[in-house]
Amino acid sequence: MSHVGEEGLKMIEEIPEGEVKDEEIAAKSGVPLNTVRRTLFILYENKFAIYRREKDPNSGWLTYLWHLDFSNIEHQLMKEKKKLLRNLKVRLDFEENNVFYTCPQGCVRLLFNEATETEFLCPMCGEDLVYYDNSRFIRVLKKRVDDLNST
Ligand SMILES: [Zn+2]
Repeated sequence: MSHVGEEGLKMIEEIPEGEVKDEEIAAKSGVPLNTVRRTLFILYENKFAIYRREKDPNSGWLTYLWHLDFSNIEHQLMKEKKKLLRNLKVRLDFEENNVFYTCPQGCVRLLFNEATETEFLCPMCGEDLVYYDNSRFIRVLKKRVDDLNST
């Protein structure tokens, strides 16, 4: 939620417990009302805020009563983490189960089968392809998977 911004974060820190109106949040936090409204909307979109509408019996105006709900945040983070892990494992599998050849000029990296098709010549510049040792890359990927698993 980087797009909440500094003032938005200040507002979140200062937000009173329970149901509040946006004007109350602005008054309490000193954050401009339009920033408060924008931040509330972002929080709402990310399911960290809910609101209830109430009609003022005198004026007939609708008032929005906001309530922050961060109970979902763990769940959201877990979902993000699982997605990231899945992608990393697919990538790791691909790296571990394939043999690669690369152009010394850095034009391309080809799978073994693709390299045989071009007779081990770079399709871009014609240079002889060389075996590409991806063990360092695999180690980096494995470390990222381990780090994610241990957090
Ligand atoms: Zn090349």
